[in-house]
Amino acid sequence: MPSHRGYDPALLAQGLAALTPVLLRYLTEAQAGHGKVLVQRPVAEILEDLDFQSVVEDGQADLAALTAAILEHSNHLADPRYIGHQVAVPMVPSALADLVSGLTNNGMPIYEMGPAATAIERGMIRWLLDKVGWQDSGDGVMTHGGSLANLTCLLAARARALPQAWEEGPSSGAVLLASAASHYSIARAAAIMGLGRQAVQEIPVDGHGRIRVADLKILFDRLQDAGKKVVAVVINACVTATGVYDPIYETACFCRRRNAWLHVDGAHGASALLAPQYRSLLAGIELADSLTWDTHKMLGTSTVCGVALFRQQSGLAQTFAQSGSYLFAGAGPGPDVAAHTVECTKQPLAMKLFFNLAVMGEAGLASHVAELFQAARAFYDRIVSRPGFVGLCPPEANVFCFAYGDSGELQDRIRQALVAEGDFYITRATVDGRSYLRLAVMNPFTSAGHIDALCQRIEALAEELTLA
Ligand SMILES: *Cc1c(COP(=O)(O)O)cnc(C)c1O
Repeated sequence: MPSHRGYDPALLAQGLAALTPVLLRYLTEAQAGHGKVLVQRPVAEILEDLDFQSVVEDGQADLAALTAAILEHSNHLADPRYIGHQVAVPMVPSALADLVSGLTNNGMPIYEMGPAATAIERGMIRWLLDKVGWQDSGDGVMTHGGSLANLTCLLAARARALPQAWEEGPSSGAVLLASAASHYSIARAAAIMGLGRQAVQEIPVDGHGRIRVADLKILFDRLQDAGKKVVAVVINACVTATGVYDPIYETACFCRRRNAWLHVDGAHGASALLAPQYRSLLAGIELADSLTWDTHKMLGTSTVCGVALFRQQSGLAQTFAQSGSYLFAGAGPGPDVAAHTVECTKQPLAMKLFFNLAVMGEAGLASHVAELFQAARAFYDRIVSRPGFVGLCPPEANVFCFAYGDSGELQDRIRQALVAEGDFYITRATVDGRSYLRLAVMNPFTSAGHIDALCQRIEALAEELTLA
């Protein structure tokens, strides 16, 4: 029965035996900073290296060899010179959870399709709500990432502001007030919801990307006087590009007075709620209406694991007014998660976080967040103390921008050269019309020594590039 071959339990034992040494070597070498962080080759070259055509046509490939080739062409997040994007360096337990959920494949739209997966999600949602202060009134749902969590939260805001929109489509004149430094998924959500991209009115920000609350008030009242309906106010905790936190308390008090929905995009920075010494960055969060939180950024889970949280249960309950009679019978001993999600089938996302907690405990994850925040502050001070380096602003989280010299164009060329060399992986950002280099300190093994080596390479590249 060749068609049954894919189900042979021996494949699991053989596969684990063959892959374990390959993955172990990868992890230890990457953590030790051997080789390059990133080598980018064109698609055709990678497919050729994977022997793609014959693998697909013939089957019978050596999965250990394939894995080794895939690792070779991957971005090595475990390498301490990975200081690039805000994607977590995944903790091992969350990767093991991926294996468990891959084998069980409990897609969990309804309770009977994944009782354990659903129970773990409900338990994790309660744990997360507790961190926000919404344990008594709130509710939430896990989503495939922060962008979908933002869409889910804004749909809830729309359901409250424009209850007829689900059936009839949104009326014209509806607007979203969003920080000018918002993640692009906010504008995308507005377009997907049928409000239109132009319905997003930007709240002005200061030179670091933090909203000016006085300007928000002026903008809000001007729009309301012009007959516009404000669906939600959207602010950041923290801003993707610069890592600064918007003033949540002050914004929330204003939104309360105007009876406006406040959504806080905490995809990256909500995890500060776990660390007692950083919790105050989100002071006032309990007054917001909804919160986006990604665990695949600061809580060490593999991608993706987003969370949409609501202060009030009704916020979520009214969002997806649809019913699917073949699905949501509602008769089981537990809730049907898909009644409250964009997705129907989804991964048992909460299992990743549950496994990390199972090994690290709450205190372990809180320390992880605090250590990365502290490291970023130390690295920032170290960088700006070198001649020629200027910082945009001291980091509040573990993301910050800096520049070497005063040419914006030079920053872009330095970053291009660094990424092409592959010895460091860092990003860039445009802030207030100026180009910066940008670090997200995600890897607990990144040390002052790595930062010094990065600075030295930047200095050398700047000299080469300006002479060339
Ligand atoms: C990362 C991020 C997002 C997007 O989240 P995904 O999980 O990548 O979809 C949205 N908003 C902010 C503030 C972010 O930092």
